[in-house]
Amino acid sequence: NAKKEGRNRFLIFRDDMEGANLERLRLETDLRNAVSRGQLRLHYQPQIDVQTGSVTGAEALVRWQHPELGTVPPIRYIPLAEELGIIDEIGEWVLRQACRDLTELRSRGHELRQVSVNVSALQLSRDFVSVVADVLEKNRLAPDSLVLELTEGVMIDNDDGAMRNFTALRDLGVQLSIDDFGTGYSSLSYLTRLPLSELKIDRSFVQGLDQGTKGGELVRGIIAMANSLHLNLVVEGVETAEQLAFFSEQRVHAIQGYLFSAAVPVEQLQGLLSPGHFAARIDDIQAQDSG
Ligand code: C2E
Ligand code: MG
Ligand code: MG
Ligand code: MG
Repeated sequence: NAKKEGRNRFLIFRDDMEGANLERLRLETDLRNAVSRGQLRLHYQPQIDVQTGSVTGAEALVRWQHPELGTVPPIRYIPLAEELGIIDEIGEWVLRQACRDLTELRSRGHELRQVSVNVSALQLSRDFVSVVADVLEKNRLAPDSLVLELTEGVMIDNDDGAMRNFTALRDLGVQLSIDDFGTGYSSLSYLTRLPLSELKIDRSFVQGLDQGTKGGELVRGIIAMANSLHLNLVVEGVETAEQLAFFSEQRVHAIQGYLFSAAVPVEQLQGLLSPGHFAARIDDIQAQDSG
């Protein structure tokens, strides 16, 4: 009968809720210990100047190697870490590891101009500025070797504190980049106020190219704007030869996407840094595309 069914449905619903809550609780507890247990890894995705084929930099992307769940994707634990107030700890680990890796790569003779690190809006504080200064000094890195990627969300509060931290970071000499550009629903006025060096156009615009001419016009507009503001434009999420052809004609600063490489462990990145690696790859892609 309906009443009984209703109750069963409720029970089933409650069971699922409990399951979900348990899973979340488990993830929370494990995430709190992920850094101290050495479960985090950095992977790197190369950024390529299409005109020369050279690698302009690499973005560090954090991976959580969970003993039972395997690799947990960042979308599942970065927001959780922010909620739990442990993003600072994770972010500091990422920053230190990325700078160590860059130093190590260079000591092995690899030429890598810069490494990009994602920074959550919640990390942006005076303490963070000190950590950045300390990391650069410990690794004896030129400050412009480090690019900090922030999303437009950091501009929403638009408070003086955020502005002071931006300026302090820029005064250290690190480069500041806006990640996922175009998805933030914020006013564009921050582009002239903040001391930025780079915009990363979001993957959704790249996908929009395939949907007809308007997508192309929008992207051309963003590129023109970046040029006139003297900001480097990096394109993320390039997957096809057609997309590559579009952007190589537009002369953007660098391209990052599965077409060239997914994010890989640092050992594998070394192979991608060998001179001529991507130049040859670009020739192949262009030959196939036109032939
Ligand atoms: P993001 O910073 O915009 O990074 C780009 C994401 O797109 C990465 O996903 C990358 O693997 C993926 N990607 C790159 N090329 C392609 C492509 O051609 N096609 C497709 N479909 N995807 C591509 P990932 O590694 O899963 O990271 C997701 C997000 O998690 C990042 O987006 C970033 O917001 C966040 N994240 C990653 N590492 C960190 C970190 O250390 N700290 C913080 N705060 N956030 C991080
Ligand atoms: Mg990023
Ligand atoms: Mg991005
Ligand atoms: Mg993104």
